[in-house]
Amino acid sequence: MRITADRTRCVGSGLCAERLPDVFDQDDDALVLLCADEVPAGLRQDVEEAVQRCPTEALSLDADAPEH
Ligand code: SF4
Repeated sequence: MRITADRTRCVGSGLCAERLPDVFDQDDDALVLLCADEVPAGLRQDVEEAVQRCPTEALSLDADAPEH
């Protein structure tokens, strides 16, 4: 399952990076950076919660992304 982040929507709240530092980081302007493109094993529920809790809906999961 692929993670995408729309940095134009991110307001730098830091909720995602605080909760899942192995998946999300922030740049010098506090905007989200992805540490992983795919949901790491065992973190799917946590990532789904982070996506739901993002205040600006900047994060999304794409279950239909083609396998590489
Ligand atoms: S939770 Fe949303 S708004 Fe906050 S840093 Fe993460 S992507 Fe940006």
